[in-house]
Amino acid sequence: MTDFPTAGFSTRALRAGQAFDPTTGAVVPPVYLTSTFVQDGVGGFRGGYEYARGGNPTRDSLQQLLASLEGGTHAFSFGSGLAAEDALLRAVLRPGDAVLMANDVYGGTHRLVNRLFVPWGVSLSTADFSDLDAVRAAITPATRVLWVETPSNPLMKITDIAALAAIGHEHGILVVVDNTFATPYLQQPLSLGADVVVHSTTKYLGGHSDVVGGAVITADAELADKVGFLQFGAGAVSGPFDAWLTVRGIKTLGVRMDRHSANAQALAEALVGHPKLEAVYYPGLDTHPGHALAAAQMRAFGGMLTIALRAGGDATKAFANSMDYFQLAESLGGVESLVCYPSEMTHASVRGTELEVPENVVRLSVGIEDLDDLRDDLLGALDRL
Ligand SMILES: *Cc1c(COP(=O)(O)O)cnc(C)c1O
Repeated sequence: MTDFPTAGFSTRALRAGQAFDPTTGAVVPPVYLTSTFVQDGVGGFRGGYEYARGGNPTRDSLQQLLASLEGGTHAFSFGSGLAAEDALLRAVLRPGDAVLMANDVYGGTHRLVNRLFVPWGVSLSTADFSDLDAVRAAITPATRVLWVETPSNPLMKITDIAALAAIGHEHGILVVVDNTFATPYLQQPLSLGADVVVHSTTKYLGGHSDVVGGAVITADAELADKVGFLQFGAGAVSGPFDAWLTVRGIKTLGVRMDRHSANAQALAEALVGHPKLEAVYYPGLDTHPGHALAAAQMRAFGGMLTIALRAGGDATKAFANSMDYFQLAESLGGVESLVCYPSEMTHASVRGTELEVPENVVRLSVGIEDLDDLRDDLLGALDRL
């Protein structure tokens, strides 16, 4: 399915799934804004295309690109990250099955399972996945899925993907990695033994805060059949223009991630030991408990940085709304910096659960602006606190 299989990552980001238009030679393949395809007699499909829920060339271009970058054989793109997760979970779970999830996953992922799958008879439990003994102890005969984000959201914990995959496979359990924070440029879970990767392409892959989308990528043909059927049969597909925007964003993924990572590393180092801070969570700091592991399984440490203030909840919330370049908004992974107050924003849906985020925590999505501007913005806001 992938083209240019031996080329490097950033070369494939530009070329895989993106053959020039054979009719005109246009370097950028057109956006196929069409819902259906003329047949040469009943069943005579040109290029296999029939109706756009089942397949559209622009969506295929994105899917081929994602499969290539994650090292999978199949990729399926959806209208959002949660739609992708929902399709994957419906493909593999049945009433009576159990999901074991890291205890600091994206709040919406926990809510999806807790509110939609649990009432259907699936059970959900969580554990600290940076502690593999805790994971082992939480596995039961019903466990069907291990679900992890590494680095995690928002506390940037690191899980050993290869070791987790080994534990999962020992028990015949599917190992899913949400690779949204790291992206395939920084970390490739399938090559480390995970069975499936999911993405919110809304974040770093799209990269410009202008499109919502999600994807499931795997090298397991049987699982791919099931997810592919749900994409077609339940229909939560990404539209062609959204797919095209996502492809456009991915072309610069490598250079963006290098810059996001460099900026975040420098800011983390500038913040460590600041008198107004209780903690700085960034896996690129050598004091981070997961630093060595992250260094082994990631190319760099990414653009997400979380801080805990010494101030209380109200002052922390005011701080989050007091900067110029770090704009207060949900989401992450765009070129522009954003700040989020997880306990009432991204993680509001998990208040009162074991995923609750403390009120003094602020999550920063470090953009690709000039470092000096970001540093002045952050340090100035801390001074005013
Ligand atoms: C945003 C996000 C999701 C959900 O994706 P949507 O595109 O918003 O549906 C899932 N996982 C992580 C890590 C995210 O950041």
